Amino acid sequence: MTTSNSTGNLGSKLAPHVEALKKQGVEVTPDASSRHLHNGIDTPLPPADLHGSYTNNRPLPTEGITERRAWIIGSGIAGLSAAFFLIRDGHMPAGNITFLEEQEIEGGSLDGAGNAEDGYIVRGGREMEMTYQNFWDVFSEIPALELPAPFTVLDEYRIVNDADKNWSKARLLENQGQIKDFSTMDLTRRQQLEVIRLLLARKEDLDDITVEQWFSGGFLSTSFYTFWRTMFAFQNWHSVLEMKLYMHRFLHLMDGLNDMTSLVFPKYNQYDSFVRPLMTWLKDQGVNIQYDVIVTDLDLDLDTGDGTRTVKTIQCHGGDGDKTFNVGARDLVFVTTGSMTEDTAYGDDDTAPRLKDSDKAGRGSGWQLWRNLAGKSEVFGRPDKFCGDIPGSTWESVTLTCKPSPLMDKLKDLSVNDPYSGFTATGGIVTFTDSSWLMSFTCNRQPHFPDQPDDVIVLWTYALLMDKPGDYVKKPMPECTGKEVLIEMCYHLGLTDQLDEVLAATKTRIALMPYITAQFMPRARGDRPQVVPEGCTNLACMGQFVETHNDVVFTLESSVRTARIGVYSLLGIDKQVPDIYPGQYDIRRLLRATRTLNNNEAFLGEGILRRLLGGTYFENILPLGPDEDPADLHKSGLFDNQLQVIRRLVEENHTLDEAKGWVQGILDRLRGRG
Ligand SMILES: Cc1cc2nc3c(=O)[nH]c(=O)nc-3n(C[C@H](O)[C@H](O)[C@H](O)COP(=O)(O)OP(=O)(O)OC[C@H]3O[C@@H](n4cnc5c(N)ncnc54)[C@H](O)[C@@H]3O)c2cc1C
Repeated sequence: MTTSNSTGNLGSKLAPHVEALKKQGVEVTPDASSRHLHNGIDTPLPPADLHGSYTNNRPLPTEGITERRAWIIGSGIAGLSAAFFLIRDGHMPAGNITFLEEQEIEGGSLDGAGNAEDGYIVRGGREMEMTYQNFWDVFSEIPALELPAPFTVLDEYRIVNDADKNWSKARLLENQGQIKDFSTMDLTRRQQLEVIRLLLARKEDLDDITVEQWFSGGFLSTSFYTFWRTMFAFQNWHSVLEMKLYMHRFLHLMDGLNDMTSLVFPKYNQYDSFVRPLMTWLKDQGVNIQYDVIVTDLDLDLDTGDGTRTVKTIQCHGGDGDKTFNVGARDLVFVTTGSMTEDTAYGDDDTAPRLKDSDKAGRGSGWQLWRNLAGKSEVFGRPDKFCGDIPGSTWESVTLTCKPSPLMDKLKDLSVNDPYSGFTATGGIVTFTDSSWLMSFTCNRQPHFPDQPDDVIVLWTYALLMDKPGDYVKKPMPECTGKEVLIEMCYHLGLTDQLDEVLAATKTRIALMPYITAQFMPRARGDRPQVVPEGCTNLACMGQFVETHNDVVFTLESSVRTARIGVYSLLGIDKQVPDIYPGQYDIRRLLRATRTLNNNEAFLGEGILRRLLGGTYFENILPLGPDEDPADLHKSGLFDNQLQVIRRLVEENHTLDEAKGWVQGILDRLRGRG
């Protein structure tokens, strides 16, 4: 048997099977979109996107694991997760793991700091959902913050969200504080076809194409696109491939897009909810962390014979000078390539943020390290595609620390529960649709910080369009002080006659992030490195700027996924990291999404489906209209109406051949052949 020394007799009675599995090999990252789902003698492993208990098996240790060391560059959620999987699934002693972190605190983009006096600050909030499978896997094992052992962060999260459904009653506002109808997607038939056409397009055919190149001008003015771009922070000049991936990844959430019922949220800010408990667990296990260390480069040994690349040394500098760490051939290096929050500029009530070196895109340490790697070989991708256009990837957020004022009274009107009750308040962002900055704000469950006083509420606001003057404060947002941003927000809430009271009761802290949407910039094959770039024997890339088959970026989940793939791949662990949750292949979700995109009205063919399935075992796969109940599925009205429509269509086209031609024309247009 060739299992590990450290395994000892572990699994010896399973030796034939352990050996056979080694020979057979396991594809760590199966791609569900590229294979035909079936059962056969060629399917010993679970389907590529199976999630759940059967995939929660624990792999055996690999050979010599106790003698190997791991260096993790960056302690964002990707880095922290890499350490988690090294310990749990790789069986690496925690003391063999060392983080090298530029900042003086762990967490990276997952921040949360300040106090009620000086003002709290979070660069962002976290819209989350239930199928962050890798993320929830980690937090189903991390001890809870406020419950005793054996409860976990996931247990706590479930209690909060199961008892307090997230939803929004004021998703869109206009005319200085008036709620705008947000009940439908507001898409014409033609615009729905634009979405379907994107869903049908092959990923390989969308290199470097932007959202505005794909969609019509009319589409970009719909409510659907307003929900979409403000919720996920898409810009018209971003990659339409990313938009497609989002549509597949979150198709099962389509009917909760307008009222935010598709989302779940943590109780506190993301640092206290996730980073603090995970780091506490890692430190308890014995990991090492060195703060204030910037990794500048990795020296690679290139074997021209077999094309392998092996990290030999890690070059750093920090508070106590330059350092070099030697890396053994069997040691592992995990590097976070690029960061969306690199070089954040801060401001406050009276100070506008100022970007340092805004003319020198990609000079921050995360980008520079990636660029240095990319300079060694094209297998490391093209970082400049992501960090090379600061105006295209910047936006700003402002955290408001609020004592009672007319702003809080207005907030109560727009919230689904009393914001001081601890329950869901605005239920996600509220967007001012007539704001030139395209400004949104949100009030998450309070307190947002564990030490927050009872009379304080923390709000967060952001805007997408950085180059336009405001509607009341006639300056672009990045030129404004915190007070000016607050005034602009008050204007859109209809509070201009109470500005003095609001300003006196509110503290602002600004974060201007030059690369916040760098991960959405138009890209093509090869721009992002593979998790383990070709030839690398002991180096994995992780985070938001790394290739996966189908996952999206700008999520916690994808950072955790890439870290997990890196650990399994470098250690040779015989275990799959399942592909994304397969909601897009669930006929119920597909039908529901189709109706949602059709502004909640019955789509063509729905009547026939009802006639076919109503009253059968499968009737509940059918979507219901807003005022319908399941009994309506048995009624024939919709079928009769749709039959009439189809009959008229055929009659108008005179002959069957013309009707066939009409259908073929639509199909060709959808598949991009028309
Ligand atoms: C404003 C905002 C809103 C967001 N909203 C959501 C949301 O709603 N839902 C969701 O799922 N996700 C959201 N995200 C995304 C999510 O937070 C990130 O994708 C994730 O936290 C990124 O983690 P990471 O570990 O990959 O990278 P980062 O968090 O960027 O961490 C990188 C770390 O590496 C360190 N580092 C970089 N280079 C070096 C170097 N050379 N030497 C040493 N250290 C280095 C950095 O200091 C940092 O600590 C949001 C993020 C932001 C900022």
